[in-house]
Amino acid sequence: MAIKAPRGTFDILPDRAVLWNRVEAAARKIFQLYGYGEIRTPIFENAELFTASIGETTDIVEKEMYLFQKGRETYALRPEATASVVRAYIQHNLHKTRLFQKLYYIGPMFRAERPQAGRYRQFHQIGVEAIGSIDPLLDAECILMAAALFEELGVGGYTITLNTLGGDESRGRYRDALRRYLLQQTSALCENCRERIERNVFRALDCKEPGCREVTRKGPNIHEHLSDADRESFHTLTTTLEDAGIPYEVDRFLVRGLDYYTGVVYEFLHRELGAQNAICAGGRYDHLVADRGGPDVGATGFALGMERVVLIISQEVKDPRTPQFFLVNVGDETRPEVFKLLEQLRRHGVAAEMDHEGRSTKAQMRVANKLGVPFVAVIGPDEVASRVIRIKDMETAEEKSATFDTIVQVLTQTLKAYEQESPDSRP
Ligand code: ATP
Ligand code: MG
Repeated sequence: MAIKAPRGTFDILPDRAVLWNRVEAAARKIFQLYGYGEIRTPIFENAELFTASIGETTDIVEKEMYLFQKGRETYALRPEATASVVRAYIQHNLHKTRLFQKLYYIGPMFRAERPQAGRYRQFHQIGVEAIGSIDPLLDAECILMAAALFEELGVGGYTITLNTLGGDESRGRYRDALRRYLLQQTSALCENCRERIERNVFRALDCKEPGCREVTRKGPNIHEHLSDADRESFHTLTTTLEDAGIPYEVDRFLVRGLDYYTGVVYEFLHRELGAQNAICAGGRYDHLVADRGGPDVGATGFALGMERVVLIISQEVKDPRTPQFFLVNVGDETRPEVFKLLEQLRRHGVAAEMDHEGRSTKAQMRVANKLGVPFVAVIGPDEVASRVIRIKDMETAEEKSATFDTIVQVLTQTLKAYEQESPDSRP
């Protein structure tokens, strides 16, 4: 049996890589406008970093980490990058160089999940972290930045769901209220949620079991337990979004699967993705930096799932290797001449191609057609003798003459006009 890529992983071949590059380029462009700089951290870290940051009782730490041992150390392939970015922020004393750091990352993450559409074991995230401030305008900035990125990519059809878990005080009060309430309802709860009451009570809020949902829907509301400061901070965020014309919904049951979140949390949900519909998720984590041994500063950020975004924009793509021009050769003796012309064209920026598989003239035309090449010409003994060829527009069947000496000029002009006409269908 031939060896295949491991379950839950995939290769990105050139026709898809163009999409990945487009998403990455758009992200870099937008983030730069907002003053975020790139950070690249290792793909593996000491496992403890994630256990301590993400939380012992989270899905990721309990069952999804890829762990390996080398010498005495236990390492983990990173399941997410916020913990790594915070580690780097502290390790390099970034708070001393600039109190306030805006960082972004792009790269693979690893989680041992059950693979399904939109859920993989090696997947990729683009994320941002604004570290060093508790300003709710930065939460707004992150959300606006994600929206700007989706706009740049032509991705619509999503909704933004927001919630706040409150700061320590509010959350503590709410945690107690929720525990007290759920302890009276244990018979209606699933086994998981019964355990969650002590271990991680907020996770009961996003349990999918109908019984649990019914119970939690009637339970205490975080928004009634918020301190004035937390309420004000959330209000600043929502009014800022409204002023910016960004629609959102507040969902008081939205909690996120990682323990480090405090305050605001949010998700961008896309309506065409089925069960795996979160394309971006984030929130505030004001304790993480101090908990890891750094200064006591607030932080906020999001991570966007690249696979899901690529899936959405994948409809309208073309293989980047599609040539702009295909030169069909008639008979072997014309091949050196064809090759010379191709080389001239390529050196002048025209993506040009020929047959290398000994196909007949007809078969070469079929290939050019199938590839979607916009312009084609045929070179046989007559053309070699006269040094004149006819460039055919494959869509309109119009033809234009050129000599071997003017072909570069004629083709570059023709392509320029063509691209202005149909910028989106350009190869
Ligand atoms: P989900 O609810 O889909 O499991 P999550 O809460 O585990 O998401 P985060 O850790 O917040 O996700 O990651 C942010 C984003 O990364 C998600 O919104 C999603 O787009 C993407 N993502 C997370 N896990 C995977 C995965 N296994 N495969 C592909 N994309 C993923
Ligand atoms: Mg998950």
